[in-house]
Amino acid sequence: MNPIKYGAACQALVDTFNALESGQKDHNHWGDVAMNAVRAEIKDHYIAEQNRRCCYCGREYPTDNKAVWDGEHIIAKSVAPHFMFEPCNLAASCKDCNIAKGEDEVRTNPRRKSFSDQSKHYRIVHPHFDNYDDHIRWYGDVVKPLSPKGGELVGMCKLWRFGVTKAGAEVAPPNALVDGMIGVMMDPQADAVTKAVAIEGYKAYVRAQPQKAAD
Ligand SMILES: [Zn+2]
Repeated sequence: MNPIKYGAACQALVDTFNALESGQKDHNHWGDVAMNAVRAEIKDHYIAEQNRRCCYCGREYPTDNKAVWDGEHIIAKSVAPHFMFEPCNLAASCKDCNIAKGEDEVRTNPRRKSFSDQSKHYRIVHPHFDNYDDHIRWYGDVVKPLSPKGGELVGMCKLWRFGVTKAGAEVAPPNALVDGMIGVMMDPQADAVTKAVAIEGYKAYVRAQPQKAAD
């Protein structure tokens, strides 16, 4: 994914923010009216760059309407306001992924001062530094993490929500292991033995859940 290159006017605004003393870099500046053009430029760039797909759930939202999209800070802006306009810390996400992710820490070392452009310094699948398909596989609405980073992303952004909603359940599978078993069950490529193990594992999980009284 190509990071944004700000236009001259927006770059000047970003430079002004970046030149502030660190104590003055308040994440609330993101919402300043003066920054409207910058936010719009960021959204426009990443919506197009990501082919109108959310950087986390990969769902297509076939609109350029900026009200539908969030300008996403991969490292939350409240946690690290100094990275607020860093091009590789920005992407476009859907509202639900952004809300689910909240202010969760994505860095392996939050005390690191400089911005890292290395995949290994992030706990989740990074929209700029990782290849999504290496870490996440979708079977329709059911997600299967393929790596620890994928598992972290599934948990942080609640990517299980699509399958759960479709199944009519009210609660999420609590961990990536369960997601993984569901993914195997639905994998047309999985061999019979692997599938049988996943099915038994999932049955055991379901049996272990407290029963909810029917009403
Ligand atoms: Zn999303």
